[in-house]
This record gives sequence, structure tokens and C-alpha cells, in this order.
Amino acid sequence: MRTSFLSRLLDTIAPRECALCGQRLSPTEMVVCGACHLTMPATHYADHPTDNPMARNFWGLLPVERAAALVYYQRDTPVALMIHNLKYHNQPGIARRMGEYTARQFMPHHFFDGIDLLVPVPLTWRRQWQRGYNQSYEICRGINSATGIPIGAKVLKRTQFKGSQTQLATEERRQNVSNVFTLADPEAVSGKHVLLVDDVVTTGATLTACGQQLIKANDVRLSLLSLAVVRPG
Ligand SMILES: [Zn+2]
Repeated sequence: MRTSFLSRLLDTIAPRECALCGQRLSPTEMVVCGACHLTMPATHYADHPTDNPMARNFWGLLPVERAAALVYYQRDTPVALMIHNLKYHNQPGIARRMGEYTARQFMPHHFFDGIDLLVPVPLTWRRQWQRGYNQSYEICRGINSATGIPIGAKVLKRTQFKGSQTQLATEERRQNVSNVFTLADPEAVSGKHVLLVDDVVTTGATLTACGQQLIKANDVRLSLLSLAVVRPG
């Protein structure tokens, strides 16, 4: 890849770092350094987007057409650090760049063919105000810059959950998340193939709750994308 004088100059002014290991990127590297590109725990789910462990996780719960995550999520790994940084360390740029990187990895597998709209998993207004951005929306922006698919940022709405989520057991959390999302704009998704986007999928409860709202609109087709997914047990 040819590197322009401008990109080399920008690297000098604001050095770019690998989104996974934090090493400085060379002028020819994009988002993820060469070493991480080779060693990251890629799921390869996009090779089989209609039948893979992530898609199967939703069978019987949601009519999912395609599902894929870029990498497996494991605690205390560069992937976990990347997810933590994009959520808690005011780094929307990492979410955007990883969104674009993921899109470019998935495009050769025709993952985005026929998809009309990107829908991010929303945060509550309070959380978004505290954080300053919604990481799922930033991932959508990255996907948009690679694919040109528009974003429906206000299709879903998340209402405030009352009480402390951290004190609850997993099953209670799953039940709590099931009724915090509402379909705010059914017209925007009706008749469309929608790609629901999140940063990390653990139990799948959040995507299930969002998906169940989206399919309330007429004639909606649904696919799922996340940066990371917990490896099935
Ligand atoms: Zn790296």
C-alpha cells in the first residue's frame, strides 16, 4: 500500500496505535498491527454467517439470517482490553476504527449484501451522557464508512433500569434486559434487512431483547454483528 506524505505527517503529529496491543502502527498498517492481525482470536464466523455458534445461540429466540463477531472475547487478553477501552476510557475512535476494520474483514464474505440499515444497541440517555458517546453507534459509523450502509440511530430506545445491575444474578439480569428496549421508529425498519450492532456478546440477552423489538415492525429481516463474542462453552 502506498502511503502519502500526509499520512506519514499525521503519524508524526498524532501517532496511531494498534487497537489491540497499543503498539505504534507503521504507516502501512491500519487499525490493528501486523502481529495482532495474525494472532488475534478470530472467530471466522463470517465465513459461514448463516450457521455458526453465534447464529445458533439465537435459534428459537429470533429469526436471525446472518450473525458474526470478529474475535472471541476472553478476560485479561488484548481483546478484553480493547473492549474495555472503547467503553470506559473515552476512546470512541477505537470503536469506529474496529467497526471499519471488521467491516473490511467481512465484506469479502458478502456479509453486508442486501443489508439496508445498521441499528446500534442503544444506551440509556443517562449512560450516553456520562460516557459522551454510544460505542455501538461508533462501531456503526466505522461500518458505514466501509460499506456506505446508513445508520438508524434512533430506531431503538433504551429506558432507564431501576436499581443496581451489578448486584443481580445473571438470570435476573437477563430478565431485566428483556423489557428495557422499545421500538421507537417502526417505519424506519419496516420492509428492511436490519443489521443489529453491539460491541460484545455474552449471553445474547441484549441482542435478543433488541431483536424482538425490531421484528415487531412489518416484514423485517434481521442479522447481527459484534466486535467480540464469548467463546461458546
Ligand atoms: Zn497489535
